[in-house]
Amino acid sequence: MKIPLLDLKAQYEGIMLEIRKEIDKIYESHQFILGPVVKEFEEDMQNYLQVKHAIGCASGTDALQLALMSLLFFGVNSDEFDEGSNQFSSPNYDDIEVITTPFTFFATASTIHRVGAKTIFVDIDEKTFNINPELIEKAITEKTKIIMPVHLFGQPAEMDKIMSIAKKYNLKVIEDNAQGIGATYNTNLNSDSVSEQNEQFAGTIGDIGTLSFFPSKNLGAMGDGGMCLTNNDDLAIRLRQLRMHGENPKYFHKWVGLNSRLDSIQAAILKVKLRYLAEWTEGRRRNAAFYHEFLSDVKEIKLPFINEKATSIYNQFTIVCERRDELMTYLQKNDIGCAIYYPLSLHLQECFSYLGGKKGDCPVSEEICKKVLSLPIYGELQKEQIEYIAQKIQDFFK
Ligand SMILES: *Cc1c(COP(=O)(O)O)cnc(C)c1O
Repeated sequence: MKIPLLDLKAQYEGIMLEIRKEIDKIYESHQFILGPVVKEFEEDMQNYLQVKHAIGCASGTDALQLALMSLLFFGVNSDEFDEGSNQFSSPNYDDIEVITTPFTFFATASTIHRVGAKTIFVDIDEKTFNINPELIEKAITEKTKIIMPVHLFGQPAEMDKIMSIAKKYNLKVIEDNAQGIGATYNTNLNSDSVSEQNEQFAGTIGDIGTLSFFPSKNLGAMGDGGMCLTNNDDLAIRLRQLRMHGENPKYFHKWVGLNSRLDSIQAAILKVKLRYLAEWTEGRRRNAAFYHEFLSDVKEIKLPFINEKATSIYNQFTIVCERRDELMTYLQKNDIGCAIYYPLSLHLQECFSYLGGKKGDCPVSEEICKKVLSLPIYGELQKEQIEYIAQKIQDFFK
């Protein structure tokens, strides 16, 4: 039996005709950048995630960069968003620190670098792999302006704690939700009563949240795409300007923005796929439960831990295991797709050596990088296939 890590073809087969019909409409309209379909898709996303504004752009990386720019260009602590100040419109923010996790995809930190701010890596929690809120406060200095948590592998970071730290120190929060579309967190922010539920969608809790529609994300385009989410009207206006070269009105520029739009063909595809997303997420959750059923007795591996306040959308199903590299080779030899997300903690990446990061700075992240392995989890996988993968893992540890 051959089981890939991800099988996008299996997903496509069920919706192929619908997607082709929508793409044909775009060809006929000849409106390829932004346009009515992008607006419709943005509205669908607003409804799906119960957020006031969804702003499409060219990738999840750009969404992060736009989010950072929208805060930095206008004076990150200014509560008066209307006019803003253009004194910051050249990218040089050495005096601004952004706190994030070192155990994430590269883009989280590269965008902080690219806007000229300084990245401060704070170690992760060993169970959830997300930024450890207990360590954030110690990392805060007078220069700290933004916290950027990542909802890794589909599970939200501890947003209740992160938001209360942000409030205490007057910081902004950008949620890198590239892997967490549709996941929820019970923030219970506005109440002292523990019993009061306040289930919110990941990406809609901080000042800005971002999405990626890279093909391997839970909602994947057939190319690149991304989105910013916010409940703040003024930030939404800025983000819309910044994705269009910073222009307002047309051909007049107060800020140097990006050229980062969502194109109509991708929006049309995503609009169809969004209708199936909840169903696909259920498939992933069902498959995660099967893994727990078949593998909970294997003492050499730790299965994903989901915080009781969170729900995960399982963008990845990532185990922590002994003899990781050997297990990976063994599974690959048996035609089972698996991968390491991520092999090197970002504070140790060569390109960030100027930040002075060294071994031992983020010990949990460093350790986890040596032990994680992601297994197939896509919704179309059948119970028998997961049983087969689990059997192979058990055979390996026998
Ligand atoms: C995929 C991803 C991104 C970048 O998204 P792209 O659409 O590929 O640019 C950013 N952050 C995280 C955590 C991601 O997984």
